[in-house]
Amino acid sequence: MAQSAVTCFRGVNLYWVSLLSVLTLVLLLAGLHQSTRPEVCVRASYDLCPDLLMAEIRINKHVSPSVVMSICGDERSNACAIRRARWQRATCEVHVLLPEDPSVLRHELNHCRGWEHQGDSHDAYQQPWIPNWRLIRIRGDLN
Ligand SMILES: [Zn+2]
Repeated sequence: MAQSAVTCFRGVNLYWVSLLSVLTLVLLLAGLHQSTRPEVCVRASYDLCPDLLMAEIRINKHVSPSVVMSICGDERSNACAIRRARWQRATCEVHVLLPEDPSVLRHELNHCRGWEHQGDSHDAYQQPWIPNWRLIRIRGDLN
């Protein structure tokens, strides 16, 4: 009788230790996930990143490459996002050249959402993007 009580106690103890260990691990991983999630946007070239800037977005489509060039200030670009941030407000003006390419628009919208690629090449666009904390800080907290 006493023997089985000890076994039972040990079993319960092990059960609680395992349960608490699993819960601790889950909370730890959730905490890590939450704290690292906004640091990079891994799939920026395939998906929209989380909206960190909450900008009002306006999309302007152009037929003339020279107009896009003069607005964007770069003769290689077929699109750009012009962002402005001030107290509690951010705006993002997207300029794209027609015919519209969904991946180009997504790229610019990720800039509107407060993200940057690290470098200016096709390879760099495929790498994880990082938040533009300076811009997000200038925008300030949204209430
Ligand atoms: Zn870009």
